[in-house]
Amino acid sequence: MHNPGHRFLAQDRFADGAQFIAGRPAKGTSGQSHAVVDPATGDAVYTYELAGPGDVDAAVAAARDAFPGWSSTTPGERSDAMHRFAAVLADRADEFARAESLQCGKPIKLTREFDVPGTIDNTAFFAGAARHLQGQSAGEYSGDHTSYVRREPIGVVGSIAPWNYPLQMAAWKVLPAIAAGNTIVLKPAELTPLTSLMFAEAAIEAGIPDGVVNIVTGAGRDAGEHLVGHPDVAMTSFTGSTGVGKRVAEIATATVKRLHLELGGKAPFVVFDDADLEAAVHGAVAGSLINTGQDCTAATRAYVQRPLYDAFVSGVADLMDTVRVGDPFDSATDLGPLVSHAQRDRVAGFVERARSYARVVAGGTVPGGDLARGAYYRPTLIADAPQHSEVVQSEIFGPVLVVVPFDSDDEGIRLANDIPYGLAASAWSRDVYRANRATREIKAGCVWINDHIPIISEMPHGGYKASGFGKDMSTYSFEEYTQIKHVMFDNTAVARKDWHRTIFGDR
Ligand code: NAD
Repeated sequence: MHNPGHRFLAQDRFADGAQFIAGRPAKGTSGQSHAVVDPATGDAVYTYELAGPGDVDAAVAAARDAFPGWSSTTPGERSDAMHRFAAVLADRADEFARAESLQCGKPIKLTREFDVPGTIDNTAFFAGAARHLQGQSAGEYSGDHTSYVRREPIGVVGSIAPWNYPLQMAAWKVLPAIAAGNTIVLKPAELTPLTSLMFAEAAIEAGIPDGVVNIVTGAGRDAGEHLVGHPDVAMTSFTGSTGVGKRVAEIATATVKRLHLELGGKAPFVVFDDADLEAAVHGAVAGSLINTGQDCTAATRAYVQRPLYDAFVSGVADLMDTVRVGDPFDSATDLGPLVSHAQRDRVAGFVERARSYARVVAGGTVPGGDLARGAYYRPTLIADAPQHSEVVQSEIFGPVLVVVPFDSDDEGIRLANDIPYGLAASAWSRDVYRANRATREIKAGCVWINDHIPIISEMPHGGYKASGFGKDMSTYSFEEYTQIKHVMFDNTAVARKDWHRTIFGDR
């Protein structure tokens, strides 16, 4: 079933190490090694030396050295380099797709049609956006001075990324930072470094100078905390779980850093009784199973108004049974394994505990046969879970949808908001007033109407509440990666200004 010819041979490709510092690959010096495991087979496919604090120091020094040169390039020069970057990524699209599928277990059609094209589009978007960094217009606000605003890069950005979309997360962190003239040290998750390393290599090939984009692959508590606390890092940008985000916030705050946090999610999917049932059922299955449910915006809590509830539950269960679980490198596969056996066991634990208080309507099992070695889990639907049970309140991060009935519109919206998270949500209705009310009243950084999941480079992505603050993608991300300077010119040319009376008496 597995065809090794189509997989990606990581050990040879990254023989020089999983660090990328000052334009070159390097081996980590922590004294500890780590194995990237193909979750479809359980086989180790790449063993490398983890970064320690010394490697983080070297990467930060490279980024600091590169900052004066890169930050003084013109927006047009940065834009040209980033257009070349997008072209290099497009040339290597298939290699990126195979490496991402190997390390994450993502179906190859997902990496070829979503992760990689999305990253190329993001790169092209920020190539254009680099030329549109704006401050407010100048003016004589005091009457005696001309004021204007400069938008400036911050310096060295230290970024930390999760394993669920390693290439896209690298892109979301690196692109707005360097478009604005910063330099960056990115720490990918230990499980999934391959495409972040390839992304940094592609930047060099595009002519982006050495040291502008650096990668350190190390453990969170070791390399990660050292990067966040580093005195030469001006800003921390973190994407990951809310628990780790709190720890990162403590360290960043203690060193007075700019902070951008993209944290967990538990997106509601609210179906009103006038919704197109077929659209809602298809949207719920696709929106909950994308990336094997390891998506911070995935549909996880379906609230369905009572008249449609039974039909929705049986429609979703039937459709989930048609999803083809299998080898990520088979183009007919719809759903690959989870990222690791540990993540699969964690997901299975949520489902097993739910059996005592809710109804497992579909899935809830580990596939056997050819798939038994991998970290696979069947698409799962849990019905009738109480609102305050753990499957409704906690991030499961697997192919599991929970469905809960509601009666009035007020109740549907109240339940959608009754959770600490606020990253994304959707509402399903043909009534424009109902749908519009949902967009106003659901507390989340993104609300879709009659769809769930699509993202676009031009629009911001980021959370409300415990899902964090700050925006990725779009020109809104420049609010995170730039600082604003007020410049004030005196226009009077007089030595004794009027306001000096406050100091020099009434003269
Ligand atoms: P995680 O929080 O366990 O790890 C994220 C990163 O933080 C990894 O690189 C890890 O090595 C590092 N890390 C761990 N401990 C650290 C520490 N003490 N100091 C510094 N760094 C540390 O998350 P994960 O399991 O890799 O990813 C899944 C989580 O990411 C989910 O909660 C998901 O919702 C979230 N996520 C959010 C978004 C978003 O845009 N809001 C996007 C993708 C993923």
